[in-house]
Amino acid sequence: MSVVALAGGVGAARFLEGLVQVMSPEELTVIINTGDDMANFMGLYISPDLDIVTYTLAGIVDPEKGWGIKGDTFHCLGMLQQLGFETWFQLGDRDLGTHIARTAMMQQGWTLSKATRAIRQSLGVQCRLLPMTDQWVPTRIVTDVGTQHFEEYLVKRQCQDIVEDVIFDGIERASPSPGVLEAIQQAKILIICPSNPIVSIGPILAVPGIQQAVINAKAPCVAISPIIGGKPVKGPADKLMEGKGVEVSAKGVAELYQTFLDVMVIDQKDKKQASSIEKMGITVSVEQTLMSNLDRKKRLAQTVLDAAAKHRAKQKS
Ligand code: GDP
Ligand code: CA
Repeated sequence: MSVVALAGGVGAARFLEGLVQVMSPEELTVIINTGDDMANFMGLYISPDLDIVTYTLAGIVDPEKGWGIKGDTFHCLGMLQQLGFETWFQLGDRDLGTHIARTAMMQQGWTLSKATRAIRQSLGVQCRLLPMTDQWVPTRIVTDVGTQHFEEYLVKRQCQDIVEDVIFDGIERASPSPGVLEAIQQAKILIICPSNPIVSIGPILAVPGIQQAVINAKAPCVAISPIIGGKPVKGPADKLMEGKGVEVSAKGVAELYQTFLDVMVIDQKDKKQASSIEKMGITVSVEQTLMSNLDRKKRLAQTVLDAAAKHRAKQKS
């Protein structure tokens, strides 16, 4: 049973941690946002969402932060600071090892996909991780103080600027990385992880061909709302959704996905929105969606698989 999940970073990784416990990881393909990537940060190619998902599934992520490696040290960053470099982007020493390795692989001509496969295999991750594209397509946030790379907006400026627009720079010239379209076509279940709909899922769907493949796919498509009670659990999804004129709610997320979504899992806190989401032709499943421990992650993952199976059975009958 092949399962395909579209994923950003922390929210997705937490969900996927549960998913690989309730299904065979070899049958899972995760298509990951690369809009957050920095192609040349101090000479390094950095791919935050790929690393968050890889580290989480490898069991080495920092559980408090949700990114970086647990127990990592920051000696290199301290030295860079002493040498007068900007150190707003937190890079741990072991984490830097990944960035150096990836950059070295890409400098010898490997694609991001090939480097991603080598890294996840070395770290013992059994499911397939595919970057959405092998081209560099930086997400840029247009704000009241100018246009910023997404990481600059998020980390350096701490989301303090007013969002006016979000641009996926160069995306119209990008193509899905090898295997992405085939995986979507052949999937038995498609999952949209509880990720930021604008800057995590948005870029994946904007790669030419991917959204159409999701629309055409025979598999039921199930999304988990990253918005609970009108607020993101963490991160700037609210500011970005507002900036794009989208209602900050489970219903707002459903509107973004309605052309291809079959089932939406929303939180108990949002059960009043169920009927307006069902009016869009989407089946709603109301659950506990806050993933505060492994048990809850597993339960949410099982709910998604069950909801997909139920939808498929209903289609057949
Ligand atoms: P990023 O790339 O690290 O920002 O990660 P994602 O885009 O994957 O995830 C960010 C989103 O995950 C935010 O909008 C959060 O609201 C959502 N999220 C994080 N933890 C949870 C959780 O426990 N439950 C749900 N439903 N959403 C979550
Ligand atoms: Ca991200």
